[in-house]
Amino acid sequence: MSQTLFVSDLHLDQKRPHIVAAFCRFLGECSSADALYILGDLFEYWIGDDDPAEGLELAIQAIRDLTNSGVPVYFIHGNRDFLIGKRFSKQTQCKILPEETVIDLYGTPTLIMHGDTLCTDDIAYQKYRSKARSPWIQKPLLMLSVKQRLKIAEGLRKKSKTATQNKAENIMDVNQYTVERVMQKHNVVHLIHGHTHRPAEHEFIQSSHTYKRIVLGDWYEQGSVLRCTPDSMKLEIIST
Ligand code: MN
Repeated sequence: MSQTLFVSDLHLDQKRPHIVAAFCRFLGECSSADALYILGDLFEYWIGDDDPAEGLELAIQAIRDLTNSGVPVYFIHGNRDFLIGKRFSKQTQCKILPEETVIDLYGTPTLIMHGDTLCTDDIAYQKYRSKARSPWIQKPLLMLSVKQRLKIAEGLRKKSKTATQNKAENIMDVNQYTVERVMQKHNVVHLIHGHTHRPAEHEFIQSSHTYKRIVLGDWYEQGSVLRCTPDSMKLEIIST
């Protein structure tokens, strides 16, 4: 059976080995898929391709095993692992796609992205994002030692946790106007993304077109997978 799979927000971390194991099991079951798309935040953090990736070796090997078996694996950066680069891509043989990519999903042009750029009501985050992604910050950052970068990553995670707790729920969700704008820019009626950890299928109508936006969930308590075949799209829960 033809099928294409999508996941995001696994937040793999050595502190959650059962999630790493669940992801490896899931990858083992993907060998008949046409493709697997990982839409960002595969890792809880990634400090550069020299990241020691402690406790994550099995997951990285399982991605490599899947690509070796002939299943293409695609990756889009998330806000936690935007420093994943060429070395990781070579190691796993997964292809890194631009942050907004339109794929042909069994005949339907479908926009895929991580989703953080849709949360435009969170002005503080968007400001941080444009700084963090600029080469002026990234280059000197990558020159720091692994130890120094791990320390910065730890600090950022703590800061993000506090900030998230103090932000209103709606600020951390997507902005509907931004969603419509980006879908119109790419001339698509289907969008798949993650980031908000609010798995759902949304539909809305704009100038007599029906638009569909599918949101993947995270892998904290259970896994979230979108399984697409030529005639169906289904958000599934994977027990961990
Ligand atoms: Mn994210």
